[in-house]
Amino acid sequence: MAQTVRVKVRRQDEPGAKSYWQEFDVPYTQGMNALTCLQEIQKNPVTVSGQAVAPVVWESACLEEVCGACSMRINGIPRQGCSFLVLDPQKPLTLEPMSKFPVVRDLIIDRSRMFQALLDSHSWIDIDGTHDLGPGPRQSPKDQSWMYVLSRCMTCGCCLDACPQVNEKSDFVGASVISQVRLFNAHPSGKMHADKRLDYLMQPGGIVDCGNAQNCVKVCPKEIPLTQSIAEMGKQTLAYGFKRFASKPDLEM
Ligand code: SF4
Ligand code: SF4
Repeated sequence: MAQTVRVKVRRQDEPGAKSYWQEFDVPYTQGMNALTCLQEIQKNPVTVSGQAVAPVVWESACLEEVCGACSMRINGIPRQGCSFLVLDPQKPLTLEPMSKFPVVRDLIIDRSRMFQALLDSHSWIDIDGTHDLGPGPRQSPKDQSWMYVLSRCMTCGCCLDACPQVNEKSDFVGASVISQVRLFNAHPSGKMHADKRLDYLMQPGGIVDCGNAQNCVKVCPKEIPLTQSIAEMGKQTLAYGFKRFASKPDLEM
C-alpha cells in the first residue's frame, strides 16, 4: 500500500467565522513540501472519515521563498509552505493560518498591516523626477553587502507572528518595518527622509514597544539580523529625540 502523510488543517470559512480542524491523508512522494500536500488535498478533498469537503484554500506565488505569500504556521511555527519539506511521512503535519493577522479563508491571511507600515514609515526611496539627474550617490561594497541582507525582507509576517508584543492589545509595528527603516535611512538617497522615518518609529506602537524577546530573529526565514536592526534604531531614535528636544525654542515662563 502506498505511504500517506496525515495532514491536519485548521480551517475557517470566512473572516470572523469560527475555526475548525479537518484531517486528510495524502499520498507521500519523496521531496514533497507542505504545498504539495495541499495540492493533493485539492485533488481529492475527502477527510480521513470519508467526508467530501470544500478544498482547502491557501495562497502562494513564487514557490521559492521569495514572495512570502505561503506563510503559515507549520507544526506551530510560522514559516513558508514552499520550503517546508516533508522528510518523515510518519510524522503528521499541522497547518494553521498565522495567528496575528486577520484570516481571509482557511490558510489565507491579510498582511495589509505590514504593507501599510511600510507606506506610513516612508520605507522607500523617492525616485519620481530623478530619472534624468544622472547616477545617484555611490555606495561602498561593505555597505552594499550588509544592506543587501536587510533588503531580502519579503514582508512574510513570520517575525510579527512570533512576537509576543504583537497582540490585540498593542499597536506594535513589529521588527520588519524597524529593519526597513534602518535600511532606507542608511541608503545614500534615502537619508533625505531619515527624520520622517525616525518620527514614525517614535510614535506609540513604535520601537519602544519592543520587549526584546528576540523571537523575531529566530523565525526570520531570510536570516535578517532583526535584533541588530532594533538595537541600531533604538540608538538612532534616542539621538534624534535629544536633537529634537535641544532644538526646541525656549519656553517662556
Ligand atoms: S525582539 Fe521580541 S519584542 Fe522585539 S520585535 Fe523581536 S520578538 Fe518582538
Ligand atoms: S523580517 Fe524576516 S520574518 Fe520579518 S517579514 Fe521580513 S523576511 Fe519575514
